[in-house]
Amino acid sequence: MLIKPEGIASGAVGKVVSKFEDKGYQLKKMKQVAVSKATAEAYYGDNAAAVAAIAGQDAVAMVWAGPGAIAGVAKLVGSFDTPGTLVCDLALTAEKAVVECATSKESAAKLIKLWLPPVDTRGVLPEIKQGRIDDMIKQWTAATSEPFISFEYFPPRTPELVEKLHATIEVMAKQKPLFMDFTWGAGGTTSDLTLDLSKSAQTKHNLMVNMHLTCTNQEKEKCDYGLTEAKKAGICNIVALRGDPPKGQAKWVATEGGFNCALDLVKYMRANHGDYFSIQVAGYPEGHPDRIKPVKDLGRELTATEKERLVEMDGIEYVCSDDDFEIELNYLKEKCDAGGNIIITQLFYDFAVFDSFMKQIRAKGITAEVLPGIMPLNAYGGFKRMTGFCKTRIPKNMMIEMDKFKGDDCKDAFVEFGLKWVADLCQQIVAAKLCPGLHFYCLNQSERSYQIMERLGYLRSV
Ligand code: FAD
Repeated sequence: MLIKPEGIASGAVGKVVSKFEDKGYQLKKMKQVAVSKATAEAYYGDNAAAVAAIAGQDAVAMVWAGPGAIAGVAKLVGSFDTPGTLVCDLALTAEKAVVECATSKESAAKLIKLWLPPVDTRGVLPEIKQGRIDDMIKQWTAATSEPFISFEYFPPRTPELVEKLHATIEVMAKQKPLFMDFTWGAGGTTSDLTLDLSKSAQTKHNLMVNMHLTCTNQEKEKCDYGLTEAKKAGICNIVALRGDPPKGQAKWVATEGGFNCALDLVKYMRANHGDYFSIQVAGYPEGHPDRIKPVKDLGRELTATEKERLVEMDGIEYVCSDDDFEIELNYLKEKCDAGGNIIITQLFYDFAVFDSFMKQIRAKGITAEVLPGIMPLNAYGGFKRMTGFCKTRIPKNMMIEMDKFKGDDCKDAFVEFGLKWVADLCQQIVAAKLCPGLHFYCLNQSERSYQIMERLGYLRSV
C-alpha cells in the first residue's frame, strides 16, 4: 500500500481526499499502482507513450506513491471546482507517483472506483439469524432503518450455465443478501433445476433461499412434491405464484387437478404445511398485465389515478382501470389474509406509481412488508421486450431520454442511463421509507446490480 488508509485522514493527502469527496467523488482508500517510473511503465504495458501522455493531460483522479508523493500533491495546480482542470507536473514526481488521467468527472469517478474498494455507507449491518424471511425482516427492521438487499436468479438450461451461475452466486453471496430467490421455470419447465439450485445454494453458499413455485402445468401433487422437497432441504421460504402461460399459449388455464390461482396455492400451503413456510406473494403496482387493457376499450376519459398508471406501447395506450385495480387490491389482500407474509412486486420504473400502490394497499389494511422488484437496465432491445411483456409503465421523460440510446453504438450510454435511472428510483424508495429492503432481479449476472448498489453506497468491500 503506498498511502495507508489511515494516513488518508490527515495531512496534505487528507485535504486532497476531502476536497474530492466534497465534489462527490468516492475516495476511500488509495491503492498501489506504481512505486517508480519503471513500475508505472510496467503498469501501462510497454506503451511508454501512455506514461508520457499522462504528463500532458489534465487530471482529476490520482494515485500517489510513497511519502515523497505527498510533496507532489502540493504541486498540483488547477481547480478542484472544475473537474478536468487539475494538473500535476509528472516530471517532478515521476519517481514517486502515477497520475491517472481522466477527462471528465464521470471517467474520473470510474477510475477512482477501479482503484478503491467500496465502502458500505449503511455502516455496520445487523447479524440476522437465518430462517423464515418474515422473521428475518422483523429482526432486520428492529435493528436498523437501513435497507437490506436480496437477489433473484432464474435456473439456466445447461450444466455449464449452472456452474457459471454458482460462480456468480458465490460473488453475490459476499454482499450478504438477506435471501436469494430462484424462480420456477415458466410453464413448470425447469422445476427440478429450481429445486436443485435452491438446495445447493442454501448449503453451498450458506444463503437463505426463497424458492418460487407456480401452479402452471402442475397438479396439486407436483406442487406438493416441490414443497416437500424444499422442506426436506430446510428451505422455509416460498414465493407462491400462479405462473405465466407456457410459451405459445396466450391465456393461462388451470391444470386439471391443479390450482386456479396463487391464492389457492397459498391456502393449500397453510392447510397442509402449517406455519413452516414464510410465504411471499406477487404484487403489481400497475395492475397485473391481464388487467392492463387498451384505453380505447374503456370508451371514456381516464381518471387522474388511471392517468398515473397509463402505459404506452408502440403508440397504443393501455391502463388497469380503477375498477380493475380495486379488484387487484382486494385480491392481494385475500392472498395476504390467507397466509401471504411478504409481497414482492413486479418491476416498475415510476416511483409515483409505486408510492400510490403503497398508499392504496395500506388503506386496504394490507400490513405485509413490501419488497420492490428492481430490474436493472442492460440493453435497449431486452428492456423493450421485458417491459412490453409485463406492460410496464415507462415515464415519458424516461422514454425520451432512453430513445436517444437505442442504437448499437450507444450501448454504454444506455447502460449508464439505466444505472442512473434505477439508482435514482431506489433512492426515492429508500428515502420514502416505504420498504425494508430492495429486491434485485439480477438477470443471472452480478454486474448491473453491483453497479447500482455501488451507486447507492450499499456495496460491501470483500
Ligand atoms: P395470481 O395471484 O393468481 O393472480 C393472477 C391474476 O389473476 C391477477 O390479475 C389477479 O388479480 C387475478 N385473480 C386470480 N384469482 C383471482 C380471484 N380469485 N379474484 C380476483 N382476481 C383474481 N412466473 C414464473 O413462471 N415463475 C416464477 O418464478 C415467477 N416469479 C415471479 C416473481 C414475482 C415477484 C412476480 C411479480 C412475478 C413472478 N412470475 C413468475 C410471473 C407470474 O407468474 C405472473 O405474473 C402470473 O401471470 C401471475 O402470477 P400471480 O402469482 O401474481 O397470480
